[in-house]
Amino acid sequence: MNKDLRQAVIAGNWKMNKTRPEAKALIEELKPLAANAGCGVVICVPFTNLETALALTEGTNIGVGAQNCHFAKSGAYTGEISADMLAEMGVEYVVLGHSERRQYFGETDETVNLRTKAALEAGLKPIVCVGELLWEREANITEEVLAKQVKLDFAGISADDLKKTIIAYEPVWAIGTGKTATADQAEEACLFIRNVLASLYGTDTAEAVTIQYGGSMNAANAQELLSKTNVDGGLIGGASLKAPDFATIINAATNG
Ligand code: PEP
Repeated sequence: MNKDLRQAVIAGNWKMNKTRPEAKALIEELKPLAANAGCGVVICVPFTNLETALALTEGTNIGVGAQNCHFAKSGAYTGEISADMLAEMGVEYVVLGHSERRQYFGETDETVNLRTKAALEAGLKPIVCVGELLWEREANITEEVLAKQVKLDFAGISADDLKKTIIAYEPVWAIGTGKTATADQAEEACLFIRNVLASLYGTDTAEAVTIQYGGSMNAANAQELLSKTNVDGGLIGGASLKAPDFATIINAATNG
């Protein structure tokens, strides 16, 4: 296993936070703090902040992502946004299958798979979230859950397209709860996901995929999590809303 074969990416998931003036202030604060990052840096902002984020990050090392996209190219899907609409704006990344989408908005592995295909077809880089619920971990079926999600979410996706995606391992019990997986638990799950990818696509492809950890990662625990061989960065919720904390995590990935 070789960490140098893939890029570490620190992505902020702002969720449903920040008006446009608040977004502007946060991005302006973050820009100088992230300028010397030795890892990929991405901010996944609400749809209403995409244009602001794209304008303010132009010419910087900060990439911009959305937090969802629909699987159809266009049509009668009131309230939805297509992958083509995002790509046309200049958006580079899109978070898909976040546990909050699965839990509150009826997302399934089938729709995550369709959205991932649509995003790739539009030229976006998907950040696909997988992870077990607490009772699934307690029932000792974490590996079955992760294998099923990976197999279904990437069904029909080529090795070349897989290399353009990021997988975020996010144990649902650790998201927004302040409960972090231990570094060993994160490493074990990310390695397991990589082994599932190897069985589907071969070792070379599996080694090239960025697999992040997400779930209450913060300025205090990032260094230990990011030092693990199979943890290639993080998807950060709460701590991405404070520029100094997010910058500390970026520095940890740079040194990791
Ligand atoms: C997330 O939203 O993907 C996340 C990991 O949130 P938090 O860092 O707040 O747990």
